[in-house]
Amino acid sequence: MHLESNETSSTASKPSILDQSIVSLAAWLQDRSLPKYRAKQILGWVYQRRAESFEAMTDLPKGVRSELDAAFDFYRTKTIATQNSEDGTQKLLLQLPDGGRIECVLLRDGPRRSICVSSQVGCAMGCVFCASGLDGVERNLTRGEILEQMLKLQRLLPAEERLSHIVMMGMGEPLANLPRVLDALSVAKDSEIGLGISPRRITISTVGLPQSIDKLAEDKSPYHLAISLHAPNDTLRNQLVPVNKKIGIESILEAADRYFDATGRRLTFEYVLLKDLNDSQQCAEQLVKLLRGRTAMLNVIPYNPVPGLPYETPTAEVIHQFRRILMEAGINVMFRQRKGDDIQAACGQLRRLREKEPDLVELKR
Ligand code: SAH
Repeated sequence: MHLESNETSSTASKPSILDQSIVSLAAWLQDRSLPKYRAKQILGWVYQRRAESFEAMTDLPKGVRSELDAAFDFYRTKTIATQNSEDGTQKLLLQLPDGGRIECVLLRDGPRRSICVSSQVGCAMGCVFCASGLDGVERNLTRGEILEQMLKLQRLLPAEERLSHIVMMGMGEPLANLPRVLDALSVAKDSEIGLGISPRRITISTVGLPQSIDKLAEDKSPYHLAISLHAPNDTLRNQLVPVNKKIGIESILEAADRYFDATGRRLTFEYVLLKDLNDSQQCAEQLVKLLRGRTAMLNVIPYNPVPGLPYETPTAEVIHQFRRILMEAGINVMFRQRKGDDIQAACGQLRRLREKEPDLVELKR
C-alpha cells in the first residue's frame, strides 16, 4: 500500500517515552550510569499510575526526572474535541504533531470499560459506507501514537476503574500497520509495566488481508480476530468493500480458518447492515452457507448513518427478519447495540464533522 507521508511524526524533536521499550529505556539509563531498575518504575508510572509528565513521577529523584524531560516527549497529541454521550460513551478527537487527526472512543457497558482505538490517519480500504476512508490514508500511526490514545482514554476513568477491553476498530486498517499495532498491543497486555489487559479481551478488526492474517497465525497471535465481511458474495462485497476486488471472500475465509487452526481463537465476522444493499433474505441465506461449519460468531451491526453518504439503516422489521434466518440456521449471531449514536461515534465521523466546524472547541459536555 502506498503511504503518502512519513510514518513517524516529522515535527517531533525528541523521541517519545511511549516509543520506548523497557529494554531501550534500561539502555538509556545505563548510558547515564543510572540504575536499570528505574525503567520499570518509569514505565509503571506511564501506563499504570497514569502520570502525564515526568514531573509527576514523585518517587524518582528530581535529577532523573529532569533528564527524562530533556530527553523524551511525553504526550504529543492535543485533544481538540471531547464528546460525551448520554449512554456514557466518550469520544476524543486528537491532533497529532504533524496536524493529522484521529479519533478514539471509551465505551461503558455494565462493568466493561472498552476502548476503540485508531491505527492510521485515514484509511486506504475505501469501504463506501465508512467515514474514515473518504479522503484516503495519510499515514500509519506510530506505536506511541496508538498507546497515547489508550492512555488518554484511561485517564477519563476514575482511579478505581480500569480499562477492560480494547478493540482496534477506530480509524484505519490495523493489518496495514501490523508491526506498530502489535508493538502497542504488547504493552497493552503487559501486566508488569503495561495496561495488563488480557489478550482475550483485545480484538483486532480487519477488512480481511490474508497475508497479514497468516502472519498473525504464524506468530500464534493471542488476540481475538474480527473480520469485516459485510457481504456474502464477491459481487456485492466488491461494491461495498472495494479492496475485495483484489482479494475475494474465499481467500479471506481460508486465512481465517488457518488463524483458527493455529490459535484456537474463535473468529468473529462483522456485518454492517445497510438498507436495501446487504439486508435481504437472500443475503442472510448466503451468509448462513458461508459460516455454517465454522467456529465463528457473527456480529451484525446496524449502520450508523454518515452525513453526506447515501446509506441508511434498515428498518427494525428487516433487521429482525435477517436475524431470524441466521438464528434458525443455528449461526452464532450477536446483534450489536449501537452506542454513542448521539455523538457520531462511528469510525471517522467526528473528524469529518470537525473539519466543517474548526472553531468549536467543545461540542458537548
Ligand atoms: N479497518 C478495520 C477496522 C476499522 S472499522 C475493519 O475494516 O474492520 C471497524 C468496523 O466498523 C468495521 O467493521 C467497519 O466496516 C465498521 N463501520 C465503519 N463505518 C461504520 C458505520 N458508519 N456504521 C457502522 N459500522 C461501521
